[in-house]
Amino acid sequence: MVDLKGQYEKIKESVNSSILKVLDSTAFVNGPEVHQFQKELEAYLGVKHVIPCANGTDALQIAMMGLGLKPGDEVITADFTFAATVEVIALLQLTPVLVDVYPDTFNINTDAIRKAITPKTKAIIPVHLFGQCANMEEILAIANEHNLFIIEDNAQAIGANYTFKNGTTKKAGTMGHVGATSFFPSKNLGCYGDGGAIFTNDDEVAHLIRGIVNHGMYERYYHDVVGVNSRLDAIQAAVLRAKLPNLNAYNKARQEASQKYTTAFQNCKHIETPKVVTNKRCHQEAGICSTCDCHVFHQYTLKIINGKRDALAKHLAELQIPHGVYYPIPLHSQKAYKDSRYNEADFPVTNQLVKEVISLPMHTELDEEQIRFIANTIIEFLK
Ligand SMILES: *Cc1c(COP(=O)(O)O)cnc(C)c1O
Repeated sequence: MVDLKGQYEKIKESVNSSILKVLDSTAFVNGPEVHQFQKELEAYLGVKHVIPCANGTDALQIAMMGLGLKPGDEVITADFTFAATVEVIALLQLTPVLVDVYPDTFNINTDAIRKAITPKTKAIIPVHLFGQCANMEEILAIANEHNLFIIEDNAQAIGANYTFKNGTTKKAGTMGHVGATSFFPSKNLGCYGDGGAIFTNDDEVAHLIRGIVNHGMYERYYHDVVGVNSRLDAIQAAVLRAKLPNLNAYNKARQEASQKYTTAFQNCKHIETPKVVTNKRCHQEAGICSTCDCHVFHQYTLKIINGKRDALAKHLAELQIPHGVYYPIPLHSQKAYKDSRYNEADFPVTNQLVKEVISLPMHTELDEEQIRFIANTIIEFLK
């Protein structure tokens, strides 16, 4: 699904020398390398504060701790996402409220958010799934109306832009009160182990979170709040510093690969290719636009609409063509997150998507020939 080796070969010298510098310095945790990365990411995102941490799941948990959410508070998020999002809500003894998504973008449905709001609702976690931002214009309006926090799960969309109706553009993860991301190796900006970060423009929340990631300490050995231990290793920061200057080019390579896939599948009536939904003008006609970066294609995900998704997956497995089903089971149906409050009729889209979606190899090193081979194999099979 990803080609981390091919990507590493191209930046090997710079990554290796940065790692050796960290080994020489013996500043393995925090220290200047992590601080530099933090500053560089703040500048890239145009956000006031980046707080590095150990992984994306921690980033989400710490974001909710930093906003002071309390047991019993309800947090609305998407039924169709990776489990980490709902897991940390439950871990903090907050109440997850799962809602359905849109069939075209796979992102959280804003009418469903409105319906799910109760007096106990305190926050919404939109997940920018597969590299495309949720409908932030509407989500920000809802949050404003009901006085709710927004925590953006930006694990899959770092570097993506979101354009508002008035034409202003912001980076994914910087529009809500807090954003959380992951630097897991396969993400768009991946390190060579685990890593994550929290973003915010709120000075007070940033200060709180800086203490929370470090055992609730604001002054050495004074523990003011219950915190966690969640730090980014300096070696991972060194890798990220070497890769951050390439992030736009990496995302561009993903967009170009996605365009090639979409062109190849154009005439296959059994397939729906990914949709880009944006307020930006250039998208109004074109399905996918290569000139802007509102979708950074963490995954390239098709819908197989003739009922043959599982058969196709089996066929691809036999031919050793990488593929993945993200995600095969709605979160509301998972053993850990089942709840009698949920009603199957409230999740028609997720219940359908889990049967139709399939993701194809998507990374920075895909070439035309690979894409054509994968696409032709799929089209032939579905004929
Ligand atoms: C990867 C991912 C996470 C978790 O990140 P980790 O670094 O693996 O903990 C959270 N949410 C989404 C949507 C993800 O894709």
